[in-house]
Amino acid sequence: MTMVLAVANQKGGVAKTTTVASLGAALVGLDQRVLVVDLDPQGCLTFSLGHNPDRLDVSIYDVLTSDIHAKEVLLDTAEGVSLLPATIDLAGADAVLLMKPGREFALKRALKPLHDEFDVIILDCPPSLGIMTLNGLTAADAVLVPLQCETLAHRGVGQLLRTVSEVQQITNPNLQLLGALPTLYDSRTTHARDVLADVADRYGMPVLAPAIPRTVRFAEATASGATVMAGRKNKGAEAYRELAESLAGYWWGGEELVTFSE
Ligand code: ADP
Ligand code: MG
Repeated sequence: MTMVLAVANQKGGVAKTTTVASLGAALVGLDQRVLVVDLDPQGCLTFSLGHNPDRLDVSIYDVLTSDIHAKEVLLDTAEGVSLLPATIDLAGADAVLLMKPGREFALKRALKPLHDEFDVIILDCPPSLGIMTLNGLTAADAVLVPLQCETLAHRGVGQLLRTVSEVQQITNPNLQLLGALPTLYDSRTTHARDVLADVADRYGMPVLAPAIPRTVRFAEATASGATVMAGRKNKGAEAYRELAESLAGYWWGGEELVTFSE
């Protein structure tokens, strides 16, 4: 059974894209066949996996708005994940999809023929609750919410959870809220721990472990388009590997999901 995981939060800069790329690479390390899908017109995922969005002829935009098959758009990456890339064209997809019936289902339909080829499909949602995020949540089996552990970083989480609940009622009754993933985490501050406890309490949402520590390696990787998981020993990469093992155990091993408690 292919698992489709949406990584969503309408707040920018909470490590959605980093999580998609790193978790994807970590799952490849566990011998899973992984596809990552860039749903952000900014194309940061595409760029961070070594492809320049400005030089691509076809992208997820064409798959969602015309008859082009997703298989014709797949790219290989040095990370070993396959990529459905985005270009700036995607900014116009809302307007095109608006005219189509079943516009929330465009991505789900496009991904269906790829289920035989991948064990996991991870969706990098843009920083909004617009039609692309609705497509992501509608196509997904589960949603993971990266959350930066800082003051009021969880403002807006209520709105996101209401959207998840509406999607569950209207377009995707099978969508599971996996929980929050603490990112950019600094374990030296008690403040970060308080924010996590507050999120768990206030929203009744599991907080997954391990928290992803803040480390300069990720900024370096993003800037260079180099592999995020390779290279020297890196606490952040280590954390994503643990998360990948936890998710694999949960999805395919019948184990409990590892959650945060401290
Ligand atoms: P989003 O997709 O939610 O907008 P990104 O994944 O693009 O967020 O991350 C935002 C910025 O934070 C990027 O510059 C990225 O390199 C940086 N970043 C992400 N995770 C970490 C981390 N664990 N430590 C340090 N910097 C990080
Ligand atoms: Mg992003």
